[in-house]
Amino acid sequence: MAGNPDCKKQEHKMHMCALKAEGFDTKNPAKFKVMTENPQYECENCGAKARNAENLCKPVKL
Ligand SMILES: [Zn+2]
Ligand SMILES: [Zn+2]
Repeated sequence: MAGNPDCKKQEHKMHMCALKAEGFDTKNPAKFKVMTENPQYECENCGAKARNAENLCKPVKL
């Protein structure tokens, strides 16, 4: 899977790893900003930060 071959979750396409791999942050900067504002979790796989744990493959509480 894009961004993280180890992630088997259905929602991986909504994970930061996949979104960044497909250039979501440059294609949809406004949406990306909303998802990453006031980050509560960090992805142990790619280091991305997100507000919701659901947007990360391996969320770790910040
Ligand atoms: Zn990640
Ligand atoms: Zn994932």
